[in-house]
Amino acid sequence: MSYGRRSIKNIETCSKSLQRVAHRAMLLAESLGFDLTVTEGHRGEEEQNEAFKKKLSKLKFPRSRHNRKPSQAIHILPYPILWPTEKQKEKTRAKCLGRFYIVATIVRLAAKYERVKIRWGGDWNGDGKIMDNDFDDLGHFETVSRNESQQDKDLKQNRALKRKRVKGIGSM
Ligand SMILES: [Zn+2]
Repeated sequence: MSYGRRSIKNIETCSKSLQRVAHRAMLLAESLGFDLTVTEGHRGEEEQNEAFKKKLSKLKFPRSRHNRKPSQAIHILPYPILWPTEKQKEKTRAKCLGRFYIVATIVRLAAKYERVKIRWGGDWNGDGKIMDNDFDDLGHFETVSRNESQQDKDLKQNRALKRKRVKGIGSM
């Protein structure tokens, strides 16, 4: 399998690095018997504010990474999508939801492989934990600019430093 025509159109609105991630993810997914779809790339002003109104996005135009040209955000989902619903049996719902996490893991590994630093909507703060994630946007992936990733590193270093200091005090 490969991306459908709509997915390809959406992929083409994204930055070159996200395009590489999307294609790598497809190859990895294929090898596991999974299929993917790309439902979103660039969003114009109207689309962004519509997404904001529907509470699908927390940002108004032009603050989302979907609003950049080329887009620095993409939605990669399992195909067929199969959204979890209240009406489903618990087991079915769990499986439907699980598919999004499987795909997210594939995309994140694809990004690692392609050396593209991304942020995922299932773990916005990137701490590797999903339980503390409040706003789950499981199909959303966005690139992190070099500047930002440096800021993240600084933040982590500061935290590590603080921890050390606290430990130091504790052992006195
Ligand atoms: Zn998004």
